[in-house]
Amino acid sequence: MVAGVPVDTRHWIGGRRIASAATYPDHSPIDGAPLAEIARGGPAEAKAAVAAAGEAFPGWAATPRTERARLLHAVADGVEARLEDLAAVETADNGALLRSHRRGVMPRVAHNLRFFADRLLALGHDDFTTPAPASGTGRGHTNHIDWDPAGPCVLITPWNAPLMLASWKIAPALAAGNTVVLKPAEWTPLTASLFADIAAEAGLPAGVLNVVQGYGAEAGAPLTADPDVRRISFTGSVPTARKIAAAAAANLVPTSFELGGKSPLLVFADADLEPAADLAVEQYDNAGQVCLAGTRLLVEEPVRDAFLERFLAKARALTQGDPRDEATDIGPTIHPDHLARIDGFVRRALDDGARALLGGGPHDGLGGNYYRPTLLTDVAQCSEIVQEEVFGPVLTLQTFTTEDEAVALANDTRFGLAATLATGDRARADRVAARLVAGTVWVNCFFVRDLAAPFGGSRASGIGREGGDWSFDFYCDLKNTVTAK
Ligand code: NAD
Repeated sequence: MVAGVPVDTRHWIGGRRIASAATYPDHSPIDGAPLAEIARGGPAEAKAAVAAAGEAFPGWAATPRTERARLLHAVADGVEARLEDLAAVETADNGALLRSHRRGVMPRVAHNLRFFADRLLALGHDDFTTPAPASGTGRGHTNHIDWDPAGPCVLITPWNAPLMLASWKIAPALAAGNTVVLKPAEWTPLTASLFADIAAEAGLPAGVLNVVQGYGAEAGAPLTADPDVRRISFTGSVPTARKIAAAAAANLVPTSFELGGKSPLLVFADADLEPAADLAVEQYDNAGQVCLAGTRLLVEEPVRDAFLERFLAKARALTQGDPRDEATDIGPTIHPDHLARIDGFVRRALDDGARALLGGGPHDGLGGNYYRPTLLTDVAQCSEIVQEEVFGPVLTLQTFTTEDEAVALANDTRFGLAATLATGDRARADRVAARLVAGTVWVNCFFVRDLAAPFGGSRASGIGREGGDWSFDFYCDLKNTVTAK
């Protein structure tokens, strides 16, 4: 039982619960309390899950689109029916705000399923006739394009938004007619397990969705090395992506990578500073454990002090504490190891001459993995704190004096996930957005994601794009049938 909800922590393979000889303990980041013992999967479970997905594939691929879409809507109904359970368990497991899980995240999980179910039904064949005579080899031939499902897909997800990120992958993969093996993060295994129950109750056939629990090196690695896997979709860190890319290369398996970021938030002097400060404070959401977070505040010199005054007032008004409490704005970070990692970044920056204008260490009074919202200034562009992803509630503040300098600073990391601009000048927004290296640029807004839009990162922030038909592009093998006139 977790948060009053029964959760089966064994694997879900071929429509059955399967135990492992070994288990590992899962603790709550809220207070360190033990939550459950989790099946500790390895090569045998990985192999069994891929085999189950392989067996179920022909039947699911041959299931009419309308029926696949109906089943995905039924799973979405199940998510909505169990929204309170999912929200409570996710908060206990990853420490993100209960109110966000209830009102934002879990409804979004259901929406993700519905979106791709509907999108599947709208997916056209883009048939066309080869024009004559310009086409060279063909005259009047018809080209019929099919979106064939690829086969068993391995989906590997991180802990910062467990079910939400999994659903972005599960929904298009299943809609397209693939079968799936999901490996959730070892620190947040629980909602994946509940989701397997929901999917089975909704009528998803055995083997179409499988869940293997366990550590990355033990359960994840053999999944990515299995030659019967046809796609690997991964959201997580750059070092893990390198390992997965190497494993995928051995079998020539296409990969989709959503990785880390070090995104800039640019505040121009022409911006309305109140909402600009709100945008900056928003970067502390989920205790800063958001890949898209604009953690580098780049502020035009003349408005630095006016912006900072507003930002500090708003940041100091944030309530830090138990994420189950409605009044809480910032909960704990995920794990004591992660807290130590965040603090290591901050200590080294301070030793290097940075100054903390806010926070600068763990919150000792709360008894969990709580880190105080932190703002560091006097940081060099080449320093670790400016270049590396901290993945905690830690922002840096730098200034610029020209638009060229703003763009140069913004683009000067190895990442390219997102960027946020605060400006009152539409022409400037267009100009700057065009020069930024980022998968998503937000102008006077943040974290808005329409599923119909492409989503992903440039440079070290990822490979490929998810969303809309870009998801189907990845999860399908496109086939062209050419017929003579
Ligand atoms: P991580 O790379 O440590 O782990 C992610 C997943 O990979 C886990 O399920 C883990 O068990 C698994 N894994 C680890 N080693 C593996 C291996 N050798 N083979 C197969 N699987 C393995 O990342 P994390 O710490 O869980 O997540 C944080 C990272 O995720 C941050 O860098 C963050 O920016 C990124 N992230 C990116 C996005 C995005 O959309 N771009 C979204 C959320 C998080």
